[in-house]
Amino acid sequence: MMRRNGRLLAAILATAALAAAPAAQAGDGFVKEPTATGSGGAAATVDALATEAAIDTMRRGGNAIDATVAAAGVLGVTEPFSSGIGGGGFMVIRTRSGKVTTIDGRETAPARMDPDSFFKNGGTSAPDFAHVRWSGLSVGIPGTVATWDEALDRYGTMSLGRALQPGIGVAQRGFEVDQTFFNQTDAAKAWFDDVPSTAKIYLDPDGTPRDVGTTLRNPDMARAYEYIARHGARGFYHGPIAAAMAEAAQHPPVAVTPAGEDHPWYPGLMTERDIARYEAIQRKPTHVGYRGLDVWSMGPPSSGGSTVGEALNILEGFKPLGPDRVEALHRYIEASRYAFADRGAYVADPAFYDVPLARLLSDQWAAERRALIGEQSANAVVDPGELDHEGKSTTHLTVTDAKGNVVSYTFTIESTGGSGIVVPGWGFLLNNELTDFDYTTTTTANKAEGGKRPRSSMSPTIVTRHGRPLLALGSPGGSTIITTVLQILVDRFDLGSTLPEAIAAPRVSQRNAVESEAEPAFIASPEAQALIAEHGHSPFKLVAGNEIGAATGIEFLRDGKLLAAAEPVRRGAGSAAVVRKR
Ligand code: GLU
Repeated sequence: MMRRNGRLLAAILATAALAAAPAAQAGDGFVKEPTATGSGGAAATVDALATEAAIDTMRRGGNAIDATVAAAGVLGVTEPFSSGIGGGGFMVIRTRSGKVTTIDGRETAPARMDPDSFFKNGGTSAPDFAHVRWSGLSVGIPGTVATWDEALDRYGTMSLGRALQPGIGVAQRGFEVDQTFFNQTDAAKAWFDDVPSTAKIYLDPDGTPRDVGTTLRNPDMARAYEYIARHGARGFYHGPIAAAMAEAAQHPPVAVTPAGEDHPWYPGLMTERDIARYEAIQRKPTHVGYRGLDVWSMGPPSSGGSTVGEALNILEGFKPLGPDRVEALHRYIEASRYAFADRGAYVADPAFYDVPLARLLSDQWAAERRALIGEQSANAVVDPGELDHEGKSTTHLTVTDAKGNVVSYTFTIESTGGSGIVVPGWGFLLNNELTDFDYTTTTTANKAEGGKRPRSSMSPTIVTRHGRPLLALGSPGGSTIITTVLQILVDRFDLGSTLPEAIAAPRVSQRNAVESEAEPAFIASPEAQALIAEHGHSPFKLVAGNEIGAATGIEFLRDGKLLAAAEPVRRGAGSAAVVRKR
């Protein structure tokens, strides 16, 4: 599978207990910490201002859905290279009544897009990833505002305008540039400086990134949020913002750079009509049972739920998963290999391709794939399973009594910095999500087509036990999202780790390549050596950027408390908090 450098996005999880949240206490200090235990509601995100917005929203009486949108609005400002209203995402919601549902806010391709649209500017073969990615051509119709609107409308208590207030405040007051933000800007500056609307916000006049410690304000984004707050989601999909987005995608607003860099900035196809027609879609979640738990996640066009689910089904047949950690890791890696082979062949936008979801998530399918896993690693790219015999579906909904609202939401603009195009006057970056199509071929299920949603790997997940919420989890990281979520679930439920330990553990990712990618700490571990010596794995390949994912999660503990957990180290560490520390 193809990997691009530095992809990331923000994952938000928020949960509110049923008890009415107390009013905010004046002078409350907010401390950035990666884990927090308490009650009354909890949130974990990659950013302290976003987590604080979620907690404040719940303290003011909002529910988890309100808190999620408030935090997401802040992340659009403070994590603009990874998320925001110029992109899309997937939200999994477990409502107070016990219902688990999802909102598909994935970007769509413009109506005029064809399987060979990416070829036209580059002759007979598809152009370089960088040339496609930094362009108008990769821009899909953004789904984030429609997602927020739909979520609030159906399950929230606040208006979109109210939920956007924390984001407006942070955009106006500004936030402090940290080392991670500096590094992300530095990696993108050669393209950012081609686009005056982007450079104006993120670069100093000499073309270098804003220094660490600088307060970065984005009045144009505040203006966009205010406009949406006044006019509702319609204000994004119709009118001046929509017109400016279509213009920026069709005619990337570039200027000749002093450096004379030769970046082609291909024009895109997105029209105002495409934007006006965008709709977020409510979909059934994927579901698998795993060792007495129910695991709910995002179905097609994301491959997250189906791939995590298929791998869990394969692993469930190993009872226990392994006599020791090494054997368990071996099986986790191999199950992921086979699940990824099937993902590559069979998952795409269900409106364009008949995804055999029930089959992929069936026990029979899992048994066939499991039978291929022996003591030795396949150590090869394996074929997808054959779809020529009927399987039995294990997919079903479990509806139970209410214990609380839970939201697991992952959203993105695809690569770090998206398409590189800030919509002039409105302060937000447009996504490059259409590079998630198989844009270098015209034959696969996930080929580019007009109106289609590119296949995603986002895996916002909620685990319930006997109908009650137990865990919510998600991560950024492109296709490694799937293995990050899977590895954390295995660590937590098979290997006895706590949620913070499972999040902190060194990661290894097998996505149907000969070698698995891994973080330095995994490569240096005795388990890695044993996997190579005893199970025939190829030496592990150091992952680009040295890190895999940036997870956040929340667990409902046995004593009734909530445990919120974010990364302790990766990506500069995340922020977890609870409404009440008791
Ligand atoms: N675009 C990716 C997906 O939908 C997510 C981007 C990332 O996590 O870096 O799978």
